[in-house]
Amino acid sequence: MSVVPLLRPEPRPEIMAIDLYVPGKSRVAGLAKAHKLSSNESPLGPSPKALEAFRSSAHDLAVYPDGSARILREAVGRRFGLDPERVLCGNGSDEILALLAHVFLRPGDEGLYSEHGFLEYPISIRAAGATPVVAPETDRTASVDALLAKVGPRTKIVYLANPNNPTGTYLPYAEVRRLHAGLPTDCLLVLDAAYAEYVARNDYAAGIEFAASRPNVVMTRTFSKIHGLASLRIGWAYGPAHVVDAVNRVRAPFNLNGPAIAAGVASLEDAAHIEAAIAHNARWLPWLAESIGKLGIGVTPSVANFLLLEFGRNGIGDAAEADAFLSARGFILRSVSAYGLPHCLRMTVGGEEANRGVVEALAEFVRGGRG
Ligand SMILES: *Cc1c(COP(=O)(O)O)cnc(C)c1O
Repeated sequence: MSVVPLLRPEPRPEIMAIDLYVPGKSRVAGLAKAHKLSSNESPLGPSPKALEAFRSSAHDLAVYPDGSARILREAVGRRFGLDPERVLCGNGSDEILALLAHVFLRPGDEGLYSEHGFLEYPISIRAAGATPVVAPETDRTASVDALLAKVGPRTKIVYLANPNNPTGTYLPYAEVRRLHAGLPTDCLLVLDAAYAEYVARNDYAAGIEFAASRPNVVMTRTFSKIHGLASLRIGWAYGPAHVVDAVNRVRAPFNLNGPAIAAGVASLEDAAHIEAAIAHNARWLPWLAESIGKLGIGVTPSVANFLLLEFGRNGIGDAAEADAFLSARGFILRSVSAYGLPHCLRMTVGGEEANRGVVEALAEFVRGGRG
């Protein structure tokens, strides 16, 4: 009697090499209420106009949404002066980042990103069967020289989050241009500008003009951060017509749902709400950086809506102790060990109560009141 081997469906081996993405925590066991400062969501929430559009869309739940998300692409076009035909919408910008890898990478190709770059990049690169390549950073900031040193004939995609999550640092536009100038023309440069609205620096640009004028540059944006619509999953990208066309062939035909499309359009039209979110961040980001820095905790200079805090120096307890200490007091920060930053926690700029509360709690932690 021959033994029949027990077979089961086997995923491609590169899939099993992917580390599961672990999102920021959202609750503390035993606490009814906690301040969630772990996923860079907006403390102001969505625009009231977006909420209203979302509610109205409840009447249309039985019908398929417009698979081309035309009114959202047109609203993006009006708001940013772009050609709606070259706007690509995604179920969050995460979906677009993954689709770009799926479309432009094949086994044997390399996808490049920087040392503490967004974790979706290696996940997307591996899922496409290609090889992730990492370039070291300088002062927790992407280095164009280090990235270019890793570029070779097999490099087909470069992901740059600008500003980067979880470090909060950014590259000036001149540096982005220098990076692009050093890439082969068959390599796609993806500028992930998820936090662009928060950046108040004269030498920064999200890359709109660049994506509009270069055959190998795509810029991605999201409604999850400053628009306060993370749960609806809306992202968009702008790029060359040939890139948009290729991605449109493989994306799910109805990747954005109707309520998301409606709320996204209304949010784009509420400029005052975005201004309020920018003003809130402009007030609290420097206040948090200064107050926390004074405690002796390391603070990486950030231009986004979050701060990377470094523990374990100046006799201060380590990141895991700080995380537990803050959680017990109802403040949920983000562990960033998976980003190669085990000594750090990432904190989103919250509302006033949360911000003041975290600083008070951290002061107590530093004084050694660890229990
Ligand atoms: C939050 C974030 C995104 C946005 O993801 P969505 O899928 O649009 O919610 C993209 N890139 C970076 C670097 C981010 O931090």
